[in-house]
Amino acid sequence: MQDAKTPGTAPDFIRSIIRDDLLAGRHHRVVSRFPPEPNGYLHIGHAKSICLNFGVAQEFPGSWCNMRFDDTNPAKENPEYVRAIQEDVAWLGFAWHGPVRFTSDYFEQLYTYAEELIVKGLAYVCDLNADQIRATRGTLTEPGQASPFRDRTVEENLDLFRRMRVGEFEDGSRLLRARIDMASPNINMRDPALYRIRRLTHHQTGDRWCIYPTYDYSHPISDALEGVTHSLCTLEFEDHRPLYDWILANVSVPCRPRQIEFSRLEMEYTVLSKRKLNTLVNEGYVSGWDDPRMPTLAGLRRRGYTPEAIRTFCQRIGITKSAGTVEMALLESCLREDLEVRAPRAMAVLRPLKIVLENFPKKGVEEIQAPIHPQKPEMGQRTLPFTREIYIDRNDFREEAPKQFKRLLPGGEVRLRNAYVIRCEKVIKDPVTKEIVELRCTYDPHTLSANPEGRKVRGVIHWVSASRSHAATVRLYDRLFTHADPGAGLAAGQDFTARLNADSLQVLENARLEESLGGARRGVSYQFEREGYFVLDADSTPEMPVFNRTVALKDSWARISGRPEEE
Ligand code: ATP
Ligand code: MG
Repeated sequence: MQDAKTPGTAPDFIRSIIRDDLLAGRHHRVVSRFPPEPNGYLHIGHAKSICLNFGVAQEFPGSWCNMRFDDTNPAKENPEYVRAIQEDVAWLGFAWHGPVRFTSDYFEQLYTYAEELIVKGLAYVCDLNADQIRATRGTLTEPGQASPFRDRTVEENLDLFRRMRVGEFEDGSRLLRARIDMASPNINMRDPALYRIRRLTHHQTGDRWCIYPTYDYSHPISDALEGVTHSLCTLEFEDHRPLYDWILANVSVPCRPRQIEFSRLEMEYTVLSKRKLNTLVNEGYVSGWDDPRMPTLAGLRRRGYTPEAIRTFCQRIGITKSAGTVEMALLESCLREDLEVRAPRAMAVLRPLKIVLENFPKKGVEEIQAPIHPQKPEMGQRTLPFTREIYIDRNDFREEAPKQFKRLLPGGEVRLRNAYVIRCEKVIKDPVTKEIVELRCTYDPHTLSANPEGRKVRGVIHWVSASRSHAATVRLYDRLFTHADPGAGLAAGQDFTARLNADSLQVLENARLEESLGGARRGVSYQFEREGYFVLDADSTPEMPVFNRTVALKDSWARISGRPEEE
């Protein structure tokens, strides 16, 4: 696998720390890791962490990044997520060092270090139940109370812990706790849990274990066993850092990684929490983890996002300790920048309105050549069959319109993109519904690609031939939620799903594609002129291609209503 480059990544506080550590000789290389829990698909927030962890490993010579599944909670994990997460990291363009690792690879070592803590008098088996533990933990202003089991002897603790391992006790009846300080101002240091009894089949270790280590206990040790130098995580772990350091200081691990925290990515009009994304999938609010409206990497990919655009986005948002919500417009502008230079152009009419060109020969066809990319002649030309019957978009015609309307009106002229100037002579309506069914127009044969002297044309609209075009279904997407922060200010009894946008998916069943799109391929982004960037969806059949709109050509987040007038 070839590693992607993240050119020109600006130095941030983490990169500065790493550089200083290398200059001071504290390390000779950086070893980082990306440690997802396989309890859901990765989202755009994870991309920030991936670009950071894999990015620093690329930037400092001789360095690497491990891929480690943090699989200590089998209740919520599953092998589908293990597979999908690897696929997403590789798709983003990154290669991990050596094999894929699992925290469960270290269960035996973690167990041995736990006995070491017991022998040192730094861990004990506690028989309090979950409610009792909570009740004796204290608060931010009051210290906790010591467990009555805190002063068990080393021998008794070793005996009980070994019997926990072999399954002598009920789930939840006992746990192993660190023996630190029940009066610590940091609640994480008040004798935190290290091991719980849980009879669960694990996706990697099967039924070998019935006790599972906690995240706080296993993470520092896994980092140390892998020789991680800098353990980069999000800010909610800041208060856990003293525990991270305490564990490493008290077991005989080969090295002492350093934990550094940075702020999570939050984005407007979406949710970035696997728990909430799980709800959307499980309760059927979306079609799956890869629904194109989802902020997951699988969803963004299906929507038509490119790894390059996501990496550019992660580079632009940077790494800091200050929390902030990023606008969707920033992600979209990174995408447009990328697609603008690469996407082949084509015309597609999303809401067809038929035009009959009365002065064009009945069976005539003129094959017009148009560039596949206006700035890239090397991409070649495409053929646009021009015929007597064509389609334009219903939104490009109005019987009555304000002066700013730069498209077709009764008696008005407009240029067909890549083709001729036409004039609307007559509007044909359904006698019953009064709906416009067809326009009668004439075309001016002297206007192909050039405006005759002094000719005033209101605007340019796109079109396709009626007989030589393909049928297609087009899916247009809007923001998934109606509120910028879907979780904030909810009424009693409401949850974030109350803020889902009922109009986030619009399906246009009767779209028409220009002939050249008959050869459209999956994974290629096309610019449908004036409409945006589109990709072929997996739901396509040979008879009925389905295109997803990845993004409109202009910022749709700022729009007030309808399409922009000037294009
Ligand atoms: P979630 O709340 O979505 O479940 P998580 O932090 O529990 O997120 P993990 O699988 O534990 O998810 O995350 C793997 C790594 O990705 C962690 O180092 C975590 O800090 C990082 N990460 C997760 N969400 C974000 C985010 N929104 N922004 C930046 N990094 C993130
Ligand atoms: Mg987590």
